[in-house]
Amino acid sequence: MDTVITDEYGEDMQINCIKCGSKSVITSRNEIDPKFSQLYCACKNIEHCGHTFVMDLSFRHSISPSAQDRRTLLIDLLKAVPTAEREKLFQLANGC
Ligand SMILES: [Zn+2]
Repeated sequence: MDTVITDEYGEDMQINCIKCGSKSVITSRNEIDPKFSQLYCACKNIEHCGHTFVMDLSFRHSISPSAQDRRTLLIDLLKAVPTAEREKLFQLANGC
């Protein structure tokens, strides 16, 4: 089964053959860790090329934090605030 990888717009990510420039398909994916995978690719220009190759797919950096990170950050901040002040903050947040 082919692995489908999409870009940030939900479009299928296109990988071109480095030999002939034709579209290639990802035939399998070897996930080394959540931030790094090896993509096994095959050129679709079978008649004139047929190159098979491995591309690396790696995470570089976040552009905006995950909602999960924001929640953890808020909880850590709230834990550092004394209880009385925490109550005041909740009142302010609720518009009281
Ligand atoms: Zn090719």
